[in-house]
Amino acid sequence: MLEVHRTHRAKILNHSQVEEPLDRHGWSASKLWNVANYHSRQVWEDTGKIPDHSDLKDELKTHSKYKGLHSQSSQRVLEELAEAFTSWYQKRKSDDRANPPGYRKKNYYDNDGNRVHEEHPRSTVTWKQNGIRHDTKNNRVRLSKGANHKEHPKAWEYILVEYETRPGVEVEDLQQVRAVYDTAKKRWELHLICKDEIKTPNAPGNETAGIDLGISNFAAVAYSTKEADLYPGNRLKQDGYYFPKEIANCDDSGGDEATRLHKKWSERRTHFFHSLSKHIVQRCIAKGVGRINVGELEGIREDENGESKNWGKHGNLDLHGWAFDRFTSILTYKAKVEGIEVVEVSERDTSKTCSVCGRKDESQRIERGLYVCEECDAAFNADVNGAENIRLNINKESNSESAGQLSGDRSTGWLAQPAVYLYDLSSGFQPQEQVVDCKP
Ligand SMILES: [Zn+2]
Repeated sequence: MLEVHRTHRAKILNHSQVEEPLDRHGWSASKLWNVANYHSRQVWEDTGKIPDHSDLKDELKTHSKYKGLHSQSSQRVLEELAEAFTSWYQKRKSDDRANPPGYRKKNYYDNDGNRVHEEHPRSTVTWKQNGIRHDTKNNRVRLSKGANHKEHPKAWEYILVEYETRPGVEVEDLQQVRAVYDTAKKRWELHLICKDEIKTPNAPGNETAGIDLGISNFAAVAYSTKEADLYPGNRLKQDGYYFPKEIANCDDSGGDEATRLHKKWSERRTHFFHSLSKHIVQRCIAKGVGRINVGELEGIREDENGESKNWGKHGNLDLHGWAFDRFTSILTYKAKVEGIEVVEVSERDTSKTCSVCGRKDESQRIERGLYVCEECDAAFNADVNGAENIRLNINKESNSESAGQLSGDRSTGWLAQPAVYLYDLSSGFQPQEQVVDCKP
């Protein structure tokens, strides 16, 4: 059996009754975020380190703002903040313009510049199992209030929410409830996260595919059918120029506009990763793939001094490593549901070795994306060559099908002429009409 989590969006039927307590909890989440954010910045200034969520919990669990939410809900806020600081910490190594996570409030000033009013946005509030009582018969959830909001008699220790999902959806084995405020509709809605078990599906076949992740081509995929696909990363790169510039132009780095831009940027990235994973998994099903090899990124992130290291074809790893990690985890999840295993294999020498004859050349010249082998006298797409080496898992000791053993009459044209899929926000990945002849 395979365990999956599904999120169902639900409309709140008794909105007018629960709006006020949900507002107060959303504001409490913002206030706790700000307190923890201030604390994290202090620790950062004093020690050059950032606290993780358990440090934050130890520090803040007796703080009055921690009691604005159920304890597990408060913990979730601290986890989110710690995650945001970690990703900032990674980004700032290569981009000194990167801003730390912002405060969640808006200040209003009078003409003399004195703050006259502050307003907190309604943050998403997450309830985990101890804070939820689910009445499946009547489609209701009781969500535990924070201690600060329990000033009423016992009947008011919970927020009782009546919900409605799309027809046909059954909410069972509820793990988490997230209350999310829709600023456009000025309404709260629920995201109900359920555990579901599905029968482990049979793999579509026994073939292996290889994926090489990189900058100019975000992914190159090699199949055992002597076919290869390229997925250029230009959309990600364009966003990587556009959004930081727009964010830098905002008056207030923690303000509404900057927050909106950060959110939009991250949504576009996530959408790209999901579409790409889906496209690759569908191609794998069609080609009878049961296993996908991806280059292992772990362990080469930092050198002994903890300094970030330029790592060749992948560009700056700090900037991109997290993107590859995020993509790999989405791919792993989508593949698993189809019975396909994703395995990380060593990337060592995969860009320096000819996937046809096995010749390894330390000074391998890669020109305009071409890998030129002096032994074979052939030119391949460099990323496809890498993907094919990863597919063959050339670093594995006992390897029945390794590079070099298949030389001879093996046709190599496909290594030079991969199919190219371009990304479009509305239609996903579409094949590029023209395939350029890569032969020099
Ligand atoms: Zn060769």
